[in-house]
Amino acid sequence: MDQHDRTQHYIGGQWVQPSGTDRIAVVNPATEQIIGHVPTGTVDDVDRAVTAARNAFDPGVSMAERRDRVARLVAALEPRLPDIATTIGQEIGAPLKVQRGVQTAVPMAIASSYRGLLEETNFEEQVGNSLVIREPYGVVGAITPWNYPLYQVVAKVLPAVAAGCTVVLKPSEVAPLSVYQFMEAAHEAGLPPGVLNLVTGYGPEVGEAVAGHPGVDLVSFTGSTATGRRVASIAADTIKKVCLELGGKSANIILDDADLDTAVKVGVGNAFLNSGQTCAAWTRMLVPESRYDEALLLARQAAQRYTVGDPFDPATRLGPLASQTQQARVRGYIERAVADGARLVTGGPEPVLERGYFIAPTVLADVHSDSELAQQEVFGPVLAVMSYRDDGEAVRIANDTMYGLSGAIWSADHRRAIALARRIQTGQLDINGAPYNPRAPFGGYKKSGIGRELGPAGLKEYLQTKSVQLPD
Ligand code: NAD
Repeated sequence: MDQHDRTQHYIGGQWVQPSGTDRIAVVNPATEQIIGHVPTGTVDDVDRAVTAARNAFDPGVSMAERRDRVARLVAALEPRLPDIATTIGQEIGAPLKVQRGVQTAVPMAIASSYRGLLEETNFEEQVGNSLVIREPYGVVGAITPWNYPLYQVVAKVLPAVAAGCTVVLKPSEVAPLSVYQFMEAAHEAGLPPGVLNLVTGYGPEVGEAVAGHPGVDLVSFTGSTATGRRVASIAADTIKKVCLELGGKSANIILDDADLDTAVKVGVGNAFLNSGQTCAAWTRMLVPESRYDEALLLARQAAQRYTVGDPFDPATRLGPLASQTQQARVRGYIERAVADGARLVTGGPEPVLERGYFIAPTVLADVHSDSELAQQEVFGPVLAVMSYRDDGEAVRIANDTMYGLSGAIWSADHRRAIALARRIQTGQLDINGAPYNPRAPFGGYKKSGIGRELGPAGLKEYLQTKSVQLPD
């Protein structure tokens, strides 16, 4: 049964008919059933949405109006979180705890943070004889992936609206249903028509139309490195600003003086969060040679506690992967890693349940830094455990990928951990399981991206800088 049939885009403050009649089916990856449809947008739909966003864009929009838009969006979103959480459970298979926590509570905290940030940010400053003014950048094209459907939208739309921009949003075709619920909140919030627009569809048509549209001033993309490269090259033709949040292969560096038990347990939990479909996941665990066997035993025990199954069963800790394509990809990575000499500690590529795109929680040991598994983003519940001889080698291995998105360091000595953190080429690092900070800038070094999301740094991406020189 189709519980979520959506037939319209949201353009210029209203739900509108798409230009075509094709629809995209959305599949529940735990049951393999179709749970809804969304329209297959076209270049014409994008054009209409960009026109609405351009008409709504006012570079002089007042601070009071911007604050009001953010406050209304946040207030309308909050009561919808339980329904959005359930939809995310249905469209990507996130287990209950993940639905309620990282999939919805975290984006809510991020959304709320922009109220305070608007109060605290200086949009004008005097530099010598210049008045430096930070103005809204313009029309934003936001292209998001499926792994954290609400988070990805909030991380772009909230700072864009706070900055005074207008937005054309193109969510992932794999998980667009929860985004419709977000748009219902935006509609109820009563944002001025055209401030926020939604066009659903496939990347090569709708995504490329957004990235290439001359009426879009900034494209903010989150997704794979390969697609990010394509988006940036299309955007180059119209010299628009490009922000890219791309893939990762982050290292969890456990130093010889660390609390190994906690470091491994938290590390496994991080690697398997959301079935490993997290760009910032710590997918490589780096352990000192002297503690390698102990760490492998702990990792195996921790992984085997991940009950795989129905995302709506409270006992489930690991849901399916979001799609059959993802399941096949991840299987391939595990099979090739084993063929390449890695040792299977637990899990493996075999089917876990009769139905659904599940993969067993998998830990692989003896993974070499130059192997595919240590270099490529798997996007599944697959942890590579690697050993190192000294801190220098740990740093070298951690930095030995094309990515640089996140990571972790564990040590009894904070100063040693911070000194090591300075040597890792990555946009974010957690020491000893530090608490999540929704205002900490998030983004990539190297091929993990360009620009930052969240907090003051995220807001700044949506601002254009003007300097006005004043006479004596
Ligand atoms: P993807 O790159 O396939 O798709 C992302 C979005 O881009 C989707 O909306 C898709 O429809 C669209 N798209 C696809 N082809 C396009 C094209 N030619 N032009 C314009 N848009 C196009 O990624 P995905 O499979 O949805 O998500 C998984 C990837 O996203 C992983 O590599 C992951 O690391 C990355 N990711 C990064 C972050 C981050 O913040 N750095 C966060 C989440 C996911």
